[in-house]
Amino acid sequence: MIAAAAALSLLLPLASAHMGCGGHEIGRRNHGGSRVLEHRQVANSVVAREREYGRGWGDDILGNMLETDLRDSGRCNASPERACRNPNAAPPGVAAGARAVSCASPTGLVHDPTSECTYYTYSPWDAIKSSYPTIWAAADIVANDTEATALFATINASLNAALPDVAVKGNGDHTGNWGTTDTTYTTDTDCWWTYAKCTTPASSTGLAADITTVPEPETWGLGFDDGPNCSHNALYNFLSEQDQKATMFFIGSNVVDWPVQAIRAKDDGHEICVHTWSHEYMTSFSNQQAFAELYYTRKAIKELLGVTPKCWRPPFGDVDNRIRFIAAALNMTTIVWSEDTDDWKVGTDNVTSADVSANYADFCAAGKNGTYSTFGPVVLNHELNNYTMQEFIDVYPTIKASFKYIVPIATALNTTYPYEETNVTYPTFAQYIGGTTETNGTTASNSSSSSTSNSSTASGAAAAASTSAKSAASQVAALPVMGMFVAGLVATLL
Ligand SMILES: [Zn+2]
Repeated sequence: MIAAAAALSLLLPLASAHMGCGGHEIGRRNHGGSRVLEHRQVANSVVAREREYGRGWGDDILGNMLETDLRDSGRCNASPERACRNPNAAPPGVAAGARAVSCASPTGLVHDPTSECTYYTYSPWDAIKSSYPTIWAAADIVANDTEATALFATINASLNAALPDVAVKGNGDHTGNWGTTDTTYTTDTDCWWTYAKCTTPASSTGLAADITTVPEPETWGLGFDDGPNCSHNALYNFLSEQDQKATMFFIGSNVVDWPVQAIRAKDDGHEICVHTWSHEYMTSFSNQQAFAELYYTRKAIKELLGVTPKCWRPPFGDVDNRIRFIAAALNMTTIVWSEDTDDWKVGTDNVTSADVSANYADFCAAGKNGTYSTFGPVVLNHELNNYTMQEFIDVYPTIKASFKYIVPIATALNTTYPYEETNVTYPTFAQYIGGTTETNGTTASNSSSSSTSNSSTASGAAAAASTSAKSAASQVAALPVMGMFVAGLVATLL
């Protein structure tokens, strides 16, 4: 294992990833400290909301309530259709510790809009939760978790050998308060996205570039961050009606808060990627904490959904070479974005819903004016609250009229094996646009339904396309030594 992991840093230069497209904001030098500071101020309020209320809470519910006020008073069920994330309280009518949802019939809660956000317990999670970090808190390796400890030790040794100079950012605050880093970090030696939106590490690091765009022309790379949201059924129903798949960047704490909703995403055929355990700033974590943020989210998704993601997105884009190394060692491709709708910012930093609509309109205009004649954007939007989801639903017809194709990011990258499990395959880009949008293969999910669907209809063109543009992850995984490393990792997860 040690030899294989050490080889990772040597092999990474062989992997290629789609480079930033130029223009837009990618790679543009910002103002250093002031940029960091600005980002922190905007992000803090969002992080606080996410942490305290889960994703079912809309801004309208929050109003001017202080988070401590809500938390201490327990007044979390202000509206029955909204989420109540209160792990200390049983749902109405359910005795503490009662099994509100079993793995045998979870879909009633998932699909019923009157109960979709009613708190429930889920027996498969109850059975394993003691071996996971506390939800909505910075993750760390759980006591006596010998498998995680051993894997981290291997990765950490390789990391310290490869990148000994990359420092933890900030002063121990994980909410974007960068402390002295705000003024002392003046040269972007670490390819720190939050500082200058760097997405292409120096070749000497051996790290692949982040995914920022997709190689398919006039193609919208569709993803939603921050789910699963208990009230996502309207959005997911809409996506199903449109036969539209997407990439879902799930927060580990939301997955275990709302496991049945997470299972729906997989069963609906969406691609599942990791969005960390606690949704904090990753570069502020120690090596061990950063590892735990990714490791336990990925493990929970495996346990509850039956698939092991090979992709992740850093919350707030906050990634540097140290964090990229840890993610790559877990065989996860770093995906950021090229366009930000700012839907997550509404209500803060003077951003309004009109601004978000204008952003969508700009992206759609670019879809028709030749901007994307040779590639496609990866657009940042969210499963954060009912507003962000409804805004997407409202603008979807315009997106569809402006771009030739709207596809999940894996599909746009022709990643046909998005998970470690090789019995789950996704269509190639050519297959998808030809009408075959379903995933193939069954998994060990705890879901009551299967994701099995119709068989592949691969054509010669599709086969050619599948080899034309592979993601960094699939290329790395294809390398023999890396494959051994991944196999070892998967064994630890199963
Ligand atoms: Zn996020």
